[in-house]
Amino acid sequence: MREMLSKTGHAVVIVGAGPTGLMLAGELALAGVDVAIVERRASQELAGSRAGGLHSRSIEVLDQRGIADRFLSQGQVSQVAGFAWIPLDISDFPTRHAYVLGLWQNHIERILAGWVDELAVPIYRSREVIGFAQDDDSVGVALSDGQSLRAEYLVGCDGGRSLIRKAAGIEFPGWEPTTSNLIGEVELTENPEWGLRHDGKGIHAFSRVEYEICDGKVVYMDRGPVRVMVTEQHPGATGEPTLRDLSEALIAVYGTDYGIHSPTWISRFTDMTRQAAAYRDKRVLLAGDAAHVHAPVGGQGLNTGVQDAVNLGWKLAQVVKGISPDSLLDTYHAERHPVAARVLRNTMAQVALLGRVDERAKALRDTMSELLGMDEPRRRFAAMITALDIHYDFSEGHPLLGRRMPDLDLITDDGRLRVFTLLHDARPVLLNFGEPGGFDLTPWADRVQLVDAKYVGAWELPVIGAVTAPAAVLIRPDGYVAWVGDKSGQGLADALITWFGAPA
Ligand SMILES: Cc1cc2nc3c(=O)[nH]c(=O)nc-3n(C[C@H](O)[C@H](O)[C@H](O)COP(=O)(O)OP(=O)(O)OC[C@H]3O[C@@H](n4cnc5c(N)ncnc54)[C@H](O)[C@@H]3O)c2cc1C
Repeated sequence: MREMLSKTGHAVVIVGAGPTGLMLAGELALAGVDVAIVERRASQELAGSRAGGLHSRSIEVLDQRGIADRFLSQGQVSQVAGFAWIPLDISDFPTRHAYVLGLWQNHIERILAGWVDELAVPIYRSREVIGFAQDDDSVGVALSDGQSLRAEYLVGCDGGRSLIRKAAGIEFPGWEPTTSNLIGEVELTENPEWGLRHDGKGIHAFSRVEYEICDGKVVYMDRGPVRVMVTEQHPGATGEPTLRDLSEALIAVYGTDYGIHSPTWISRFTDMTRQAAAYRDKRVLLAGDAAHVHAPVGGQGLNTGVQDAVNLGWKLAQVVKGISPDSLLDTYHAERHPVAARVLRNTMAQVALLGRVDERAKALRDTMSELLGMDEPRRRFAAMITALDIHYDFSEGHPLLGRRMPDLDLITDDGRLRVFTLLHDARPVLLNFGEPGGFDLTPWADRVQLVDAKYVGAWELPVIGAVTAPAAVLIRPDGYVAWVGDKSGQGLADALITWFGAPA
């Protein structure tokens, strides 16, 4: 990674090079903004595996930047998402990525860091942000090595215990944990009970870190580190968990610890559920786990953070460049807070469904399984978990408004191309399916691409199904549709000003 210590000012300083901070840095760099990251870790190495993969909408947003293949080539696909571990088939979803990509977080971070490095984003490593002070014009950022940085905006992507959130005085209301699990990567001397165990003591699992998916089934390698997860019988411990804690927790559940030894990582996660009351305090913003924490069930935390970053990146870039007023940043909270609030709600529901094991709880789970076996509920829940159903509240109108633009195969003057290819540079695009030359975008030509295109296939949205073909759509850099209309252009100028600033 490039270091750049001589320069102490940047337009944007991001705290934390986790998945959220890396994605945001990439988005800002693509928009030509001077951005730097401060990261406590000395390298991108991540102890342990944490998140297990990417859902459809995250793969789509990576595809919108032309980097999805980097992840797909290293992961394992499965056409099944889950709600409280009830499988949900998503193979019929209208997306090129109708699957979950199994890929451990350390690989996701490594690939994202490689992209950010190509975009020449400086990362100040091995030091922490220890405080900041903001005034009307800038933010002074204090580092643990005694240096300081100045930025126009500071973004806390510094995880669930976010110093930035606390120092900004942003409330983090929510719910205390009710369950606690130990997780680790270890070696065993005996063969364990492989797979998931759900019993009166909680949820536990033994698996191998390395696996393949064959015919929809996970096949673990027969050697290599073992990933263990076990519910603690007495939640509430706060210290760093030890091998002894893990051993005792296993014995309490399995009656043996299977000769556990040589751990490379031991950690603890809970179902603590909290969300920042505000994602912005003047020149300071929060994204990812810094803004929301919840139980990992459903695998949505990293995914939500990456998508926060893609929502915020282009807006912050436009504000920094003076294209848009800083009120555009308020739409970040307005759009993303409700999305994470829904994730919090669904993870709490999943924990409740998994938390108790007796005949009544089993009846409830069976009832949910029956319900989610029906087509409509399956599609709704799977679209929620995969984030394909996100609907930002812009205004009434065509069903595409505020929803993700599908990655259609277009025919253009430059030949055949996919919608997502047009978004690789993170620039907005007005797609005209009507008569060529029907729009004049001259006052926004420096910011918005105008593409005359033909599309002959069906228009289909997840859950909603077929929608009428629009004559023209305005697509934001994050891939959400900001305006739908025709060559009369009614409402287009307003949408352009709202999202991409006043005419030049
Ligand atoms: C067991 C487990 C399983 C999970 N499974 C999934 C899953 O399958 N799918 C999913 O989507 N999510 C999952 N998650 C959640 C996922 O790991 C997190 O949501 C994700 O890491 C959040 O990314 P982030 O970049 O917002 O924060 P983090 O990954 O926490 O990154 C924050 C970064 O900031 C740095 N930092 C912190 N403070 C400072 C400071 N003051 N100065 C400088 N640097 C600082 C840290 O070193 C770190 O690199 C799981 C989590 C756990 C624990």
